[in-house]
Parts: sequence; C-alpha cells; structure tokens
Amino acid sequence: MLIICKKCGSRKAKFREACKNCGYKPKSDHEIAEAVLLSDVWFIYTGLSKTDAKGQVLLLQEQIRNKTYVSSDSEIQKARKYLSDLAKEEWWVLLRVLRFLSPLFLIILIAGIIFCVRNCT
Ligand SMILES: [Zn+2]
Repeated sequence: MLIICKKCGSRKAKFREACKNCGYKPKSDHEIAEAVLLSDVWFIYTGLSKTDAKGQVLLLQEQIRNKTYVSSDSEIQKARKYLSDLAKEEWWVLLRVLRFLSPLFLIILIAGIIFCVRNCT
C-alpha cells in the first residue's frame, strides 16, 4: 500500500498513522478520507491498474511538495463512502468466520460438558 502524507508528501503505511516526517496524523473522518484519496488503494478502487495508481500517487506527491495540491469535497465524500463500505465489509468477513467456527465451538462446549459431568461429580 502506498499512502502519502497530506502535509509533506512523505510515504506512510496506514491511513490513520502519524507521519514520521512531519508528525501529521489524520483524526477526523474527513481527514482520514483525505488520506484515502492520497493512496494507491483509492486509485485501484476507482479502476486504475496498480502501476497507474502508483503513478497517480507520485503525481499527487509532487503537487503536495509544490504546494499545488487541492483536495475536492466531492472526492472526499466518495472516499468517506468507500471507508464506510469497507467497515461493513469487515463486519461481514467477521460474521462469516464466526459462522464457520460455530460448529467447532459447539463441539468444544459439548466435550467440556461431558468432561465436567464425568469428573466434577
Ligand atoms: Zn508528513
């Protein structure tokens, strides 16, 4: 994942992470959405190839360093929707994992009860 800092254009690894160069850390949903817009993940999501997405981010990095970068509110809205969709997606994955594991839990529970009945009385 390639993400760049909104303030100085340095690379970082996570949207919410503080920049190692200037210390800027996105906190509000708005600021995190801005960080999303400055990542290759976003450009891949909008349909670009990995290489083109990287190229776009490097272009934005140039703009940030030249102080010509301006974020657009409509883009930020789109990124916020993307983030909320992503959060929903994570919940679905968790639910699916739990559903997959539930028979296993049931077996452990039953084995535990049998063990307890035999040994605890
Ligand atoms: Zn920075």
